[in-house]
Amino acid sequence: MAELRPATRAVHAGRPPHEADQPLNVPITPASTFVGGGDREYARWGNPTWQAFEDGLGALEGGRALAFSSGLAAVATVLDLVGADGVVVAAQHSYNGTILQLADLEARGRLRTRLVDVTDPDAIAAACDDDTALVWLESPTNPALELIDLPAAIAAAHAVGAHVVVDNTFATPLLQRPLELGADVVVHSVTKYLAGHSDVLMGAIVTADDALFSVFKGRRDLLGAVPGVLEAYLAARGLRTLHVRLERAQANATELARRLAEHPAIAEVRYPGFGGIVSIVLAGGPLAADLLTRSTSLWVFTTSLGGVESTFERRRRWKSEPATIPDALVRLSVGIEDVEDLWADLEQALGALG
Ligand SMILES: *Cc1c(COP(=O)(O)O)cnc(C)c1O
Repeated sequence: MAELRPATRAVHAGRPPHEADQPLNVPITPASTFVGGGDREYARWGNPTWQAFEDGLGALEGGRALAFSSGLAAVATVLDLVGADGVVVAAQHSYNGTILQLADLEARGRLRTRLVDVTDPDAIAAACDDDTALVWLESPTNPALELIDLPAAIAAAHAVGAHVVVDNTFATPLLQRPLELGADVVVHSVTKYLAGHSDVLMGAIVTADDALFSVFKGRRDLLGAVPGVLEAYLAARGLRTLHVRLERAQANATELARRLAEHPAIAEVRYPGFGGIVSIVLAGGPLAADLLTRSTSLWVFTTSLGGVESTFERRRRWKSEPATIPDALVRLSVGIEDVEDLWADLEQALGALG
């Protein structure tokens, strides 16, 4: 399907063949085991419903995908690549759970971590040396919304023989395809935009490198961090509308970022110019930020992001969030509602802060 455009791939990839009496969607196949002698054999090794999702995501990212039970299960599987005492260079504002996994592995002597401030364009190249096994990139970062020059960072990593992983959860393959830019591996929290309806926890790894694919497949078979079949079905269904959901969320986010920048209660707006996530820093400090997230009727106070409904939270309410994230920063996950209703709800809550 390489010649088709992304929106068409999102709708069509991973469907059954156009043959009489075939369903249009791969059905949910609950199974713990399959009749012997074939490729699947046992349910930990494969399932046709996972495969439908994997074929769809693989077609969008330009590689082969493997579904996992969560984004962090996919992250753990990739970090498992790093041999004893290898160095991982990572963006300091990578997803908090990724940073916590790196800290945990480092505390147990499994690897060494170098966290890098990616707002300095030379920092990634400066941190890479012959000990570097893996460079972990996320762009935009969560929730700082910093952008990394991916081709430059990938070149710097490859120059020292390191593998490059990009967490593509925020951009999605419709806005950024890291494998085409030379990255070795893409990871996703499918939980967010790919599934897109706040009802699924799932993750994925994608690579175009057959040797790496076999390693990851082997690790998934062995460790068993596999998704449920209902989750895989919902995620495959979510992929079908990713392009229209993202288009609307992005249009709403662009407009809200513009209006928020002019509001006196807001000290700073961070919007990278694409995607559906906007971070704002409240002029009134963390108390004003907390009050805002309790004063709306449409916007839901919750963690997580990427659903059709608009949600937000003050990130520093989590003790593990780094101190380099402003205390009064609220991350908005802009949904696909009518932007005027979203703005009216936000504006009344901002006005009430006084
Ligand atoms: C949520 C998230 C993860 C972790 O995914 P889970 O599905 O929650 O395990 C990883 N990376 C990013 C960027 C995320 O937003």
